[in-house]
Amino acid sequence: MAKKIDPREFRQCMGRFATGVTIVTSEMNGDVRGMTANAFLSVSLEPPLVLVSVGHKAQMYTFLQKSKRYGVSILNEDQMNLSNHFAGGHDPELKVPFVRHDDMPLIEGAVAHIVTDVVDEVLAGDHTLFIGEVKYLNSHALRPLLFYGGNYSELSVDLAPSSYAW
Ligand code: FAD
Repeated sequence: MAKKIDPREFRQCMGRFATGVTIVTSEMNGDVRGMTANAFLSVSLEPPLVLVSVGHKAQMYTFLQKSKRYGVSILNEDQMNLSNHFAGGHDPELKVPFVRHDDMPLIEGAVAHIVTDVVDEVLAGDHTLFIGEVKYLNSHALRPLLFYGGNYSELSVDLAPSSYAW
């Protein structure tokens, strides 16, 4: 019989996948919400689709089910405080630098902004994958915030033009 996967070992193993850090935002009837997420990825080029995986315990889960629209801000290396804040480490002193594009609140100074309409919701265990069709994007050659092994990190190399085409 296959060995049952230990949740701690699973988290540790998946934490070896280095990622960026995003803040997913959404707005409904003037109510703005944000949540830190690194389970974010590009899904399709035609049509342009992305997804974010949201845990069912997160407030953002029920919010996105209703709002059907979300923004993604890919954080820069100086925005760790924002990541902590939007991961539940509420900082009452923090003034969140929101900026608005395509009628969506996003984080000012981020490496990239993406705004999507939710086109599909896929139930996946204790998370739901919110698949969004990209309606707006911008990006800048800034240094990103990274997450690896349960810790924040930064790029140790200079930014260079992409040499990988596929
Ligand atoms: P809450 O916990 O209620 O709110 C989150 C925080 O955002 C609170 O501090 C709140 O004050 C603040 N906030 C919300 N809206 C605003 C606003 N308009 N203005 C100012 N502050 C506001 N969870 C996932 O489901 N998927 C992931 O991919 C994921 N990746 C993560 C990656 C990292 C690096 C970290 C640190 C955490 C990740 N999490 C992920 C966990 C997730 O960020 C937390 O569980 C988070 O607390 C869930 O938020 P919530 O929707 O329950 O909202």
